[in-house]
Amino acid sequence: MSEETVIRVAVAGAAGRMGREVVRAVHEAEGLSLVAAVDRAEVGRDAGEIAGVGTLSLPIESGLKEALLRSQAEVLVDFTVPASALGNIQTALEAKVSPVVGTTGLTAEDLNRVRAWVAAGGVGALIAPNFAIGAVLMMLFAEQAAKYLPDVEIIELHHENKLDSPSGTALMTAQKIAAARAGSPRPEPANAVEKIPGGRGANYEGIHLHSVRLPGFVAHQEVIFGGLGQTLTIRHDSTDRRSFMPGVLLAVRRVRALPGLVVGLENLL
Ligand code: NAD
Repeated sequence: MSEETVIRVAVAGAAGRMGREVVRAVHEAEGLSLVAAVDRAEVGRDAGEIAGVGTLSLPIESGLKEALLRSQAEVLVDFTVPASALGNIQTALEAKVSPVVGTTGLTAEDLNRVRAWVAAGGVGALIAPNFAIGAVLMMLFAEQAAKYLPDVEIIELHHENKLDSPSGTALMTAQKIAAARAGSPRPEPANAVEKIPGGRGANYEGIHLHSVRLPGFVAHQEVIFGGLGQTLTIRHDSTDRRSFMPGVLLAVRRVRALPGLVVGLENLL
């Protein structure tokens, strides 16, 4: 493969759980070259050693802008924290680097700001709350079911260190269901009592969302529809962070050709 056809990839959050997985996946992928690894933690340590793939002679750096310019990266994969992702996206777009963002917790307002930067910068960008194909299918099937069964609740279960709740996937599922739903959900009983505030979870347009945070989980979600004398449960389990990597690699390969900001992996399938 010639030098020009190899995509130069930088990773932000390279020392994190997802970032380490991305370092490994990019390193092992055909036609991709890992050119920079950025994180606030583990600065100076070799990104490959942290990811368990052996020495790559690529030390973790702390400055994203400098790393992107020095490495002439073409794509930035960001798996950091909600408070950092927006700034990282802006830095990437200013450097004409296409961001592929998995970090969750960005608001609708944040997405509008990214849309404006993308329009000004003229490079494609992709943000996806879930890169696992099974999760994308779960959302698709839930959208279908919502046309017939308007009463639905979502339970999402994640590891104990997840910062945002409800998860980006749960929120996106609720948004898709609300848009696809033909009927209205049943009104709640007027005399219902929440004995402890939050007992019924979060509420997005009548869809209750429940967040479980416990050691032992990776990323799981159940979408439960209720009907007359029946329930339908659509469940997805990511039991290993490798489940996200085919989606991340697909996005890395496609992002530069996108016409603007694309939200959701389903738009690339
Ligand atoms: P983590 O805490 O293990 O890793 C985050 C890393 O980002 C840490 O190493 C931290 O030091 C680093 N970081 C923080 N600010 C930074 C900055 N400004 N520049 C560079 N690095 C910075 O978290 P995680 O479990 O890897 O998850 C990361 C994000 O990915 C979360 O928002 C999570 O919800 C999301 N996630 C998304 C998907 C998906 O498919 N889209 C899947 C799993 C997790």
